[in-house]
Amino acid sequence: MSSVAPAGATSAPTLSASGPAPNPWAMALRQLDEAATRLQVDPGVRARLSACQRELTVNFPVRMDDGSLRVFTGYRVQHNLARGPAKGGLRYAQHVSLDEVRALAMWMTWKCALVGLPYGGAKGGVICDPRALTPGELERLTRRFATELAVLVSPEKDIPAPDIGTDGQVMAWFMDTYSMHRGYSQPGVVTGKPVSIGGSEGRLEATGRGVAFCARQAAERRHIPLAGGAVVIQGFGNVGGVAARLLNEIGSRIIAVGDAQGGVYDPDGLDVRALRLYAQEHGGVAGFPSATPISNADLLELECDVLVPAAIEGQITAANAGRLRCKLIAEGANGPTTPDADLILAQRGITVVPDILCNAGGVIVSYFEWVQDLQQLFWAEDEVNVRLRRIMGRSFDAMWERAEASQQTLRQAALDIAVARVAEAINVRGLYP
Ligand code: NAD
Repeated sequence: MSSVAPAGATSAPTLSASGPAPNPWAMALRQLDEAATRLQVDPGVRARLSACQRELTVNFPVRMDDGSLRVFTGYRVQHNLARGPAKGGLRYAQHVSLDEVRALAMWMTWKCALVGLPYGGAKGGVICDPRALTPGELERLTRRFATELAVLVSPEKDIPAPDIGTDGQVMAWFMDTYSMHRGYSQPGVVTGKPVSIGGSEGRLEATGRGVAFCARQAAERRHIPLAGGAVVIQGFGNVGGVAARLLNEIGSRIIAVGDAQGGVYDPDGLDVRALRLYAQEHGGVAGFPSATPISNADLLELECDVLVPAAIEGQITAANAGRLRCKLIAEGANGPTTPDADLILAQRGITVVPDILCNAGGVIVSYFEWVQDLQQLFWAEDEVNVRLRRIMGRSFDAMWERAEASQQTLRQAALDIAVARVAEAINVRGLYP
């Protein structure tokens, strides 16, 4: 019998300015602190926003294919519920920790508020390497984790979705487990499900579509031509893969792509479709024929028009921000840029479209999926995409205008809009009891 050690919470997170793994919760707290200071948020409200409302840690057994039993550690954190039920993805990865989940939950709160969704922020995850599990093991892990989370989740209370290492199949197992316990189908308990069981048209592509939309909007305003422009993408999963395809479709050259296994570079532009098929077959982009291998560190520093970090947190730090040679960063990932790196990028005139807007397409279409599930009335993909574009466009304009009017970075403007909305909801609801 083997076991996975619990990650444990870091009670006093430290923010590494240049280290390879900055603590995401320290990053999130610093962003909040700075926004709350700018907005002069009431100290009591500030204290409430600085702590996650609910944190659940579960250690649960899973029967492995060889008959042994393994104990996994998982989390579900609800940061703030003032604006509605909790919403946020589930991540299956070895680097999952309580601090990572806390940060991701807080960022979900801001993201939902920024784009005007009636949700609070949540996130969850299990410490595991999903690639090292068989489909049967992954299904048993998911069903047991769903059961452990039953005290928190429901269509009215907390609605998970896919994130790193999870997909529509994992959501289907989650939804089926929850529905078995209830005795009837409850599609609205998760989003990002396959369309055949109540998923939404357009959800699979929504995050990458939103990233490509934001890159185009920012490029237009900065007068950076994307047709023929060079784009570098870190992370070639759901978000990075779709963003690469859609930017390639409008004529951008995708000159480099990296994932957890390695990276590939071609200054004339990679064949994105062939790369996708290659990555599916070989489990990653490394070794793609007729391209030059490149490390993830070097990839980030390539000269290009747009850099799309679409993998994990803390990739652009004070250590490499000074060497980046892009004009624009469109954050597909959550928390890819540290606060110290933000300062350097702002000084260098590199525009950063912040994660809480740039990758909000996923939660926007998750919201559409939830609404469709509750109403049992489903929309065509065109309708989904038109509504997605409307919300992304409105939110982008509001962020850009605020940034220009108050001489802020886009992240500062986005955070200020979001934090002010959540603070207002807290204030107007008052304090119970
Ligand atoms: P995914 O599991 O589909 O893909 C993740 C990709 O990142 C893979 O290509 C993986 O190999 C790569 N990767 C992982 N670790 C890496 C590392 N250390 N260096 C380089 N590459 C690495 O996950 P996803 O759903 O595409 O999520 C990617 C990011 O986007 C995450 O930060 C996630 O929180 C964020 N996000 C996802 C969604 C969504 O709808 N899926 C929505 C909003 C934000």
